[in-house]
Amino acid sequence: MAKTEERCSFCGREKREARVLIAGLNGHICDNCVQQAQTILEEELSSKKPKSFQEYALLKPHEIKKYLDQYVIGQDEAKRVISVAVYNHYKRIRHAKEASEDDIELEKSNIIIVGETGTGKTLLARSIAKMLNVPFCIADATALTEAGYVGEDVESILARLLQVADYNMEAAERGIVFIDEIDKIARKSDNPSITRDVSGEGVQQALLKMLEGSVVNVPPQGGRKHPEQRMIQINTQNILFITGGAFDGIDKKIANRLQTNRIGYKIDRKREEVDKDNILQYISPVDLKAYGLIPELVGRMPIVTFMHALDRATLKRILLEPKNSLVKQYTKLFEIDNIKLSFDDDALDFIVEKSVEFKLGARGLRAILEGVMNDAMFELPSKANVKSLKVNIAFVEEKFNKTSLSRLRVA
Ligand code: ADP
Repeated sequence: MAKTEERCSFCGREKREARVLIAGLNGHICDNCVQQAQTILEEELSSKKPKSFQEYALLKPHEIKKYLDQYVIGQDEAKRVISVAVYNHYKRIRHAKEASEDDIELEKSNIIIVGETGTGKTLLARSIAKMLNVPFCIADATALTEAGYVGEDVESILARLLQVADYNMEAAERGIVFIDEIDKIARKSDNPSITRDVSGEGVQQALLKMLEGSVVNVPPQGGRKHPEQRMIQINTQNILFITGGAFDGIDKKIANRLQTNRIGYKIDRKREEVDKDNILQYISPVDLKAYGLIPELVGRMPIVTFMHALDRATLKRILLEPKNSLVKQYTKLFEIDNIKLSFDDDALDFIVEKSVEFKLGARGLRAILEGVMNDAMFELPSKANVKSLKVNIAFVEEKFNKTSLSRLRVA
């Protein structure tokens, strides 16, 4: 019997027809099919690639808010304002790229969020960065000092952003920086001080330069600048700065302003109906200046918004609703050990109540839940016969009373 010629197991081409025929265990493949397979592979992989920044940057404000709704509960006003701001920011970047003929330069608009600690300011900023797939870093304004003083230089923030971006300069230059506790660098009095104010105004001046969009010399490894160190230049033109602070006592300044406005002006009907329990909603740049931020810095953060204090209903929703809510996380943790975890409604109410009682806010929910669940998480994985755990009020009360309050430290 004549020996059958070797052929490609994919297209059937015979050895003499192919330039190369590669032998495998039970078959062959020709050069043609290898090339085709390569094309298929590339197409498949590119369709599965996570969406790029460019694609996300096209999201409309409505879609941005919908995304944020998955992670941040309540705070609708802030989410709406920020959705528009983010939309405009990335529209501006694209507009600049398209080398506009009309010469209308869209100015950068950084954001300032006023609200008590633990109301979701950082979460909001972080969620936006996650959605856009851009580098994100958090800085604490209290750690910053003017160049030359002990502490962190303002430029170190950009060094951190660059690190987060894996030293990809292009990515870093369109990242998002969240600066927390911006209220702590406020001038202590309303008068521009005659004496030097190390902690406050100097840092504000240093931040100003960065926020307004300029080329900043950054020490690549962070830390302090050394004369002999090589600097990297980062352009902050397209970096979105979101700042946040509790601005303790600013409600009084807002109330005062609303009050004084009445004198000398005609009282309009709207003013009459000031919602005194929710005074933060009237926040405006004037109040930030009155609080001690320098006017130039306030001018660089034209988008001013606020966060509501979290009430019991919102805290309960935070336990349940976010995409990665605590209840969902614990359920998953137990599920991995094949244990079905469920929570009674009043057990959750108890956790919320304790968080309010000890003034721990949303951060307290995790601390309390961790304390309550610890015994079960220790014991159950070793008990093969336990297939479910129902967390009811008696269970939570007992475990909570065992938890020493000192353990309820809030990170
Ligand atoms: P802030 O920056 O205002 O001090 P964070 O954003 O750090 O507060 O919030 C602390 C934690 O509390 C977050 O990690 C989140 O789990 C939870 N949290 C706070 N506010 C909300 C909210 N509105 N929706 C969902 N979770 C929240």
